[in-house]
Amino acid sequence: MSAEIIDGKAFAAEVRAKVAEHVAKLAERGIKPGLAVVLVGEDPASQVYVRSKGKQTVEAGMESFEHKLDASTSEADLLALVDKLNNDPAVNGILVQLPLPDHIDEDKVINAIDPAKDVDGFHISNVGLLATGQKAMVPCTPLGCLMLLRDYFGSLSGKSAVVVGRSNIVGKPMAQLLLRDSCTVTIAHSRTKDIEDVVRQADIVVAAVGRPEMVTGDWLKKGAVVIDVGINRLPPAEEGAKGKLVGDVDFASASDVAGAITPVPGGVGPMTIACLLANTLTATCRANGLEEPE
Ligand code: NDP
Repeated sequence: MSAEIIDGKAFAAEVRAKVAEHVAKLAERGIKPGLAVVLVGEDPASQVYVRSKGKQTVEAGMESFEHKLDASTSEADLLALVDKLNNDPAVNGILVQLPLPDHIDEDKVINAIDPAKDVDGFHISNVGLLATGQKAMVPCTPLGCLMLLRDYFGSLSGKSAVVVGRSNIVGKPMAQLLLRDSCTVTIAHSRTKDIEDVVRQADIVVAAVGRPEMVTGDWLKKGAVVIDVGINRLPPAEEGAKGKLVGDVDFASASDVAGAITPVPGGVGPMTIACLLANTLTATCRANGLEEPE
């Protein structure tokens, strides 16, 4: 293995510490940021995320409001809750955990959130603001990836970047952020021809595919910097055991070729929640007409 390991866990701890410091300063003015997280149903992975988000929110000195709703909750009831949170001055950030049950229209719910409180950055107006280079609420996972890349490179200007995956929550906003930082950006997806050749052109590879260990070392240019967004649990080796957690990149072969790489776990994952806290702080500062943290 020759690649440098990009330690997302340590970087995320630094981000959280900075957020906590800023939150403590707000407390002196009598301001306490509040984050409301809404979970509908009992998806086990979502429950783990929500618990972790709540814990880290409190650790950063913020108020955490958790709303756990039954899987049978109607769309109208969920929209009514979102409306209530939109109008609650103690709530600065609202996150509705996805996926939602099939009978609820996700777009409708996301677009009902006050864009100023949309700390996930999925509201159509935040998507538009980001795409046009205006001040937006930026989706947490791509924001976390960008922070790691900026920390590694300093400037990203002129780098060629390939984002594998075009989802609204990771791939597309990631591409927008890299473009905003003056990378030459290609988005690859399931219909991309000769995808290995496309990826091999890149100085920066961001893999957000949801396919365990798909990107292997022979897809990479020597020295490429690889950000692995994927979180996939492999089937357990034996019954009753927990399957191994792997990314969308084959770490073993990729780390022989890459210049630097994020591990899974301990790479992008911790950055996502750290950025959620940072976004909640930003939303709070904006709501109070205060200077935003960098
Ligand atoms: P989606 O399933 O929404 O999107 C996957 C994308 O990958 C699609 O654009 C799809 O292309 C593309 N894709 C699928 N198969 C292939 C293939 N064989 N070759 C090329 N492209 C392919 O996933 P998400 O964006 O939501 O998530 C991606 C991964 O990131 C998942 O592993 C998820 O668990 C993880 N994740 C991690 C987070 C974190 O905090 N670290 C947060 C969010 C997600 P097409 O559009 O053509 O179908």
